[in-house]
Amino acid sequence: MIRFGIDLGGSKIEIVGLGADGRERFRRRVPTPQDDYQAVLDVIAGLVAAAESSVGERGTVGIGTPGSVSRATGLLRGSNSTCLNGKPIRADLAQRLGREVRVANDADCFALSEATDGSGAGADTVLGVILGTGVGAGIVVRGRVLIGANAIAGEWGHNPMPWPEEGERPGPPCFCGLTGCIETFLSGPGLEREHLRGTGQALTAPEIALAAATGDAGCEVSLAGYERRLARALAHVINILDPDVIVLGGGLSNMRRLYDRVPRLWGDWVFSDRVDNRLVAHRHGDSSGVRGAAWLWDDDGH
Ligand SMILES: [Zn+2]
Repeated sequence: MIRFGIDLGGSKIEIVGLGADGRERFRRRVPTPQDDYQAVLDVIAGLVAAAESSVGERGTVGIGTPGSVSRATGLLRGSNSTCLNGKPIRADLAQRLGREVRVANDADCFALSEATDGSGAGADTVLGVILGTGVGAGIVVRGRVLIGANAIAGEWGHNPMPWPEEGERPGPPCFCGLTGCIETFLSGPGLEREHLRGTGQALTAPEIALAAATGDAGCEVSLAGYERRLARALAHVINILDPDVIVLGGGLSNMRRLYDRVPRLWGDWVFSDRVDNRLVAHRHGDSSGVRGAAWLWDDDGH
C-alpha cells in the first residue's frame, strides 16, 4: 500500500508518496495559491491525482499544516495562511478526494516522522520541537500523535519562559496577545532581537551562529543565553512529560552545539537526580513535515 503525505505551508504545498517500507515513490512541490481557499483545494486534489497516476495505486492521504482542526467544529484555526482559517478543510478534501483525510499540525507531523523512522525511532515517548520562525512542538506516544482535548497538545511555544531571569519579565509582546512566550525568546527572530538588545548588532540567527563559532565574544554571549533559555524551557517539559527523546527541527536546530551544551545545563531545573532524556537532531530535516503527514495512517489503513 502507499501513503500520501501533504505538507500545506504558507508558501508551498508538497506531496510525498511513501511505500510500506518508508521509501519515497513520488514527490512534487508547488507554490501555495495565495488568499484563495478553493484554489488550495484544487491544487491538493490535483497533486493527489498526479501522484496516484504516477505510482498506479490509490493511497491514504494525510495533511500537515500550521494550526489545528477544532475538535468541536471541524474548522481549521491558528494557520498563518489565514484564508484557511475557519474552513472545514478536512471535510472539503474528503469530499474532493472521495476518502477520509487526516489533518494534523505540522509540528505533530514532524514529531511523528522522527518517531517513526527518524532520530526518535524505537522510543516510547518523543517530543518533536521546531525552532524556526516560530516555536512549536508535537508529542508522539508509542507511535501515535497525542492530540489532546482541544487538539493543542504540544503547543509549548506560547507558555511563558520558565524560571525567568533578569530582563526576561514581562518579556516581549507575542502575536498571540500575551508577553514573554517561549517563542518570543527561542525563535530565530527572538535570538536576533536578544542579540541586538545585548550588543547593538543587527545580525541574522545564522550570522550569530557563524560568528560565535569563529570566536566573536558578543555572539558567544547571545548563544550561551539562548542555550540557557532552551535548557529551562525543555526542563519544564521534562518535569511534566519526561520524554525519552527530544528531537529538534527548524533552522536553529542546525546549531550543533545545542546537543552538547543544553543537556549539560538542564539538570539545574529538572526534578531528578539524573537526567537521561536524549536531545538529538532531526534525521529527515525539511522532509519530516511531509513524511509525518503520510504516517498519520498506519499499515492497515487505521
Ligand atoms: Zn505567544
